[in-house]
Amino acid sequence: MATNRTFTMIKPDAVENGHIGGILNMITEAGFKIVSLKLTQLTVADAQKFYSVHSERPFFGELVEFMTRGPIVAAILEKDNAVEAFRTLIGATNPADAAEGTIRKKYAKSIGENAVHGSDSDENAAIESAFHFAGREQF
Ligand code: GDP
Repeated sequence: MATNRTFTMIKPDAVENGHIGGILNMITEAGFKIVSLKLTQLTVADAQKFYSVHSERPFFGELVEFMTRGPIVAAILEKDNAVEAFRTLIGATNPADAAEGTIRKKYAKSIGENAVHGSDSDENAAIESAFHFAGREQF
């Protein structure tokens, strides 16, 4: 059964361009509760671990460089069927394919610099949430 929590990051491109507020507003307007929230920055080791599933892909180096070049916003979100509902809200990986009304349609610039992350499974949501937040930071 699906759990009701997912993990997100507002990526360095969106933070640099001043879109933290706009993206958090779309998230809360869509009915997600913010359970945890922080501004932080990934180290190279963090990003390599986070995206290890893509380590053999040609864009891996570019992805790690992008994700570590500035601060990100990390958050845990709560809603029924959160993982799938949030993937719908963020839209396709490539903003050129993202549906109208999605976060990536509005804020992403390219397939690489695509404004937001959303966990792809309940298992990964739990792993990614625990990486960033202690139990006492999860409300
Ligand atoms: P997601 O689950 O929609 O974020 O997509 P994936 O798990 O397939 O990819 C993870 C992240 O890698 C994406 O969000 C992009 O930031 C990046 N990425 C995926 N494909 C490409 C690509 O072809 N080029 C570059 N530069 N980055 C990519």
